[in-house]
Amino acid sequence: MRLLIVEDEAYLAKLLRRGFVEEGYLVDVVDDGAKALAAAVSVPYDAAVLDVMLPDLDGFQVCERLRRSDCQVPILMLTARDTVTDRIRGLDAGADDYLCKPFSFAELCARIRALTRRKGTAVQAPVQLRAGRLRLDPLSRRVWSGSSEVYLSQKEFVLLELLMRYPDEVLTRSRILDHVWGFRYPVTSNVVEQYIRSLRRKLGSDLIVTVRGMGYRMPAAPS
Ligand code: CA
Repeated sequence: MRLLIVEDEAYLAKLLRRGFVEEGYLVDVVDDGAKALAAAVSVPYDAAVLDVMLPDLDGFQVCERLRRSDCQVPILMLTARDTVTDRIRGLDAGADDYLCKPFSFAELCARIRALTRRKGTAVQAPVQLRAGRLRLDPLSRRVWSGSSEVYLSQKEFVLLELLMRYPDEVLTRSRILDHVWGFRYPVTSNVVEQYIRSLRRKLGSDLIVTVRGMGYRMPAAPS
């Protein structure tokens, strides 16, 4: 699952990123409205957490513009005050849910889960990712190789999802660390290598290509 977080307070943004990464999401963080608009129209996020107080456009404006440009990503707004006016403004702008600061991370997480579930049960079927014989369902978190299901740990799953979302693209170790582990590991750690090894063991050694000195790449159609 891919999540966009729009928050300009660096400390809170970092906490949210770490929290959602630990929950197994692929997380992108941006710190202003313009970047949020650019990111949300170019990447098919499963949900967005949008702070109202931003330096340029406020969260309401970002939300309105996204809806006007026909972007249907489920949006949860973070509002500073629990006033009826703010809530109504957010929902009018096209937000799906809202939460007042300060909030508990557990509640935010539960609401994001609810939003992505709702999206998954909508008319449009959830998108499955494919690469050669591999098939991955981000919503149910299941993976198949051919017709047999493969059982992965949470981190293995997130790493595989990341690779499959960027077929034929070289992902550097630091980008992988950032997305899959958040800030917990130093770049010198060999945790990425360990997990690539275990994915290869479970899925076949031809699926992930090592690009020496750069990182890893998943061919769109493994040979
Ligand atoms: Ca803010």
